[in-house]
Amino acid sequence: MPPVLPVDINTVKGFLAEDEGEALFQHCLATAALGPCLEVGSYCGKSTIYLGAAAKTRNNIVYAVDHHRGSEEHQLGEAYHDPDLYDSGVKLMDSFREFRINMRKADLEQTVVPIVSPSAVASRHWATPLGMVFIDGGHSWEAALTDYRSWVTHIVTGGILAIHDIFPDPSKGGQAPYDIWKLAKASGLFEELPMVNTLGLFRRV
Ligand code: SAH
Ligand code: MG
Repeated sequence: MPPVLPVDINTVKGFLAEDEGEALFQHCLATAALGPCLEVGSYCGKSTIYLGAAAKTRNNIVYAVDHHRGSEEHQLGEAYHDPDLYDSGVKLMDSFREFRINMRKADLEQTVVPIVSPSAVASRHWATPLGMVFIDGGHSWEAALTDYRSWVTHIVTGGILAIHDIFPDPSKGGQAPYDIWKLAKASGLFEELPMVNTLGLFRRV
């Protein structure tokens, strides 16, 4: 089934290529019977819309974890800063307002559960088995490793682990997502699936 999206995805701010979004959509559809989906790093909801649109057709849920304060590269003065997402009152990034607007537009408020929190805090008492985990949060080594350790253990057999921004060539991008991709590959817990653009994919065995 080709993705049918509830909004023009090109109008949603974000960092996700179309082929990557389509892969998220397909894997979220395929794993819906196994349990809910969880993403780390929602930003304005681009990936969330692909995942949510798939989940909705299966009456499934997407947990969307993001503190909405931006990653290093989104901060004031950094390369990917967006002044529309800056809350000058508190002098911090805030993508949650835009995220909510987009979830409402996409009619996903009954499908997507926003968890506005650092990933590590959200995971502390997590006990729900997950059919799919998508990691697209902070790109520091510490953040990526924390996301890997926090969420990967909750993926059920047959479930999918997707990791964004995999750049085996260091001149193309940061290495932290690739480092956790290598951890997953070496863990013996997963079957490696073909990469889609910069989206690394594994199935839990
Ligand atoms: N998936 C999005 C892009 C995510 S950008 C899309 O499709 O466009 C990365 C996001 O990760 C940012 O919104 C940032 O706030 C969030 N983030 C970074 N570190 C985090 C952490 N430790 N806990 C929760 N969210 C984090
Ligand atoms: Mg990314």
